[in-house]
Amino acid sequence: MFTPDPTDHQENLCNGYPPIKLVNRKTETERTIVKVAGAELGGTDIVIIAGPCSIESKEQLKAIADSVKNSGARILRGGVYKPRTSPYSFQGLRDEGLQLLSWIRKETRLPVVTEVMDPRKLELVCQHADMIQIGSRNMHNTPLLNEVGQIRKPVLLKRGMAATIEEFLFAAEYIVKMGNEQVVLCERGIRTFETSTRFTLDISAIPLLKRLCHLPVIVDPSHGSGQWWMVPWLSKAALAAGADGLIIEVHHDPARALCDGGQSLLPEKFQVLMDELKKLAEVMGRKISV
Ligand code: PEP
Ligand code: MN
Repeated sequence: MFTPDPTDHQENLCNGYPPIKLVNRKTETERTIVKVAGAELGGTDIVIIAGPCSIESKEQLKAIADSVKNSGARILRGGVYKPRTSPYSFQGLRDEGLQLLSWIRKETRLPVVTEVMDPRKLELVCQHADMIQIGSRNMHNTPLLNEVGQIRKPVLLKRGMAATIEEFLFAAEYIVKMGNEQVVLCERGIRTFETSTRFTLDISAIPLLKRLCHLPVIVDPSHGSGQWWMVPWLSKAALAAGADGLIIEVHHDPARALCDGGQSLLPEKFQVLMDELKKLAEVMGRKISV
């Protein structure tokens, strides 16, 4: 049995709450492997998820999907229901975007991940996506967590931008408690006093989550920084800190992107990054999933 050290956070976590029972790691070797179509997260392989922040059109989606696939991305991302700060910003193609998601999935044979905000859309989105994303703004939405806990699709749970590690793990616990054990945690940056970056990427969350919890941990360096040029640095830092994967925004024409262009990598920059990540993975005794 894995007996945590008395100074271990596993002992200190859950302060004032009933303990975390399901997602906490109980033995030294306990790890959950989450399967998304053929891709496996949480094992030796590192899984790279890439694609546009938002699906904007058939042409945009095809251009980006083809390029990230050629560079070695294993799962395609693409938002159709977008959580935007301003109600006047592009909200995503919504239901119409789901058709494009199904189309590109067949066209490229890449599994797709997309965000659901409204539990009433969950069943519909499940018909088009291979993995359901719960965004940062919805990490605390317990009715939504309970709903995704009842589906049989893997869930990508992003850390709330102001959530503690404990709150993050309890959010995962909601999903697993309802019966869905296929949960991937995603560190995507937190709010701090720093305003030079969009969020502050919490690198220490990676080893900490992996020590406390048996679920795979991936990192979003795009939202974590808000700046495209920082994405390669943070991606490598995340891998070095033990991340099981990355989710990266890529756009072929960032200046004209309807959402998050400033943090999106050009396809050619993504290709260079993938080459670097392959080498780094090897040094770490891992490999990038193909
Ligand atoms: C996203 O991945 O498109 C997104 C909105 O991320 P987050 O929920 O982390 O802000
Ligand atoms: Mn985005």
